[in-house]
Amino acid sequence: LSGDEENLSSAEREYEKALRPLSFADFTGQQKVLDNIKVFVQAAKLRSEPLDHVLLHGPPGLGKTTLSHIIANELNTNIKITSGPVLDKPGDLAGLLTNLEEGDVLFIDEIHRLNAVVEEYLYSAMEDYRIDIMLDSGPNARSVQISLNPFTLIGATTRSGLLTSPLRARFGINARLEYYDADLLKQIIQRSADILDTPMLEDASFEIARRSRGTPRIANMLLRRTRDFAQIKGDGTITKEISEIALNALDVDQHGLDEMDNRILSTIIEKFKGGPVGLGTIATAVGEEADTIEEVYEPFLIQEGYLKRTARGRQVTELAFKHLGIVPPARSGD
Ligand code: ADP
Repeated sequence: LSGDEENLSSAEREYEKALRPLSFADFTGQQKVLDNIKVFVQAAKLRSEPLDHVLLHGPPGLGKTTLSHIIANELNTNIKITSGPVLDKPGDLAGLLTNLEEGDVLFIDEIHRLNAVVEEYLYSAMEDYRIDIMLDSGPNARSVQISLNPFTLIGATTRSGLLTSPLRARFGINARLEYYDADLLKQIIQRSADILDTPMLEDASFEIARRSRGTPRIANMLLRRTRDFAQIKGDGTITKEISEIALNALDVDQHGLDEMDNRILSTIIEKFKGGPVGLGTIATAVGEEADTIEEVYEPFLIQEGYLKRTARGRQVTELAFKHLGIVPPARSGD
């Protein structure tokens, strides 16, 4: 349930595609971000100019890719999709950029993982719609300037803190996506169930919604699994009872924390007296990448009040002790 796009199977990708909203009207939540972007898109269309470059940040599965597709749809332009780690050489980037038509959107996922050389090339592309390519090396080296069609770069990142400041400064529009509350997720789940032609009772969609870690991708994934349970253990309709059976079978607890969330909290409590303890140490102890803990698990645990970041490391809160049914040790005036 990590919500990490890289780990999605092709069946899951297909499923996501089918459920992906295609217009502003279809997109639920993130109201403030959406309202602003609508204005910028309309203004760009009125002026027949490309939309300013957009940086979208926030945890995985909240709709960054979806919103980028929608922006391109609403601009009536094409979208080309790539990601930071894939753009290995400046030539890769040049190939993509020179193929863009006027006003097109170039979407770079995980833009914080661009290598420094490629990033350097992006600067002039973003600023002046041109790139300088070096041909040959040594005494024959010369640079050729290629001009590009005006385009919009949309960068997505789970770690905006890792973006260099020259890159960050080149985005005119900067939006942070937030976790969704249960009511919004319920609407998203109901929309998805309709698209899938799956009958679902209202209390069931709320049950899944409140246990989806505030994340539409997880909500849709849990819906998919719950639908399997409804077909095999029930009569096809997703009831509250079926959703509870499914969620428990999937190790999603009453508060929506999954197995890894709970493992992180119980490890900090049992092995490190509740913390503070460094991220790397936690990662080793739970057997998960430090980056994944920082990008996927920690933001939600912090937002929900289970975990704190302190100068000396991560520390669980009293709520975490309570959640796991463990009595917190008496604190000696910290
Ligand atoms: P990100 O790029 O932030 O990791 P995605 O845009 O890939 O997230 O979203 C993951 C899935 O969640 C998509 O398939 C989409 O169907 C769904 N989704 C995300 N945001 C919304 C939303 N606001 N309304 C409806 N569905 C959404």
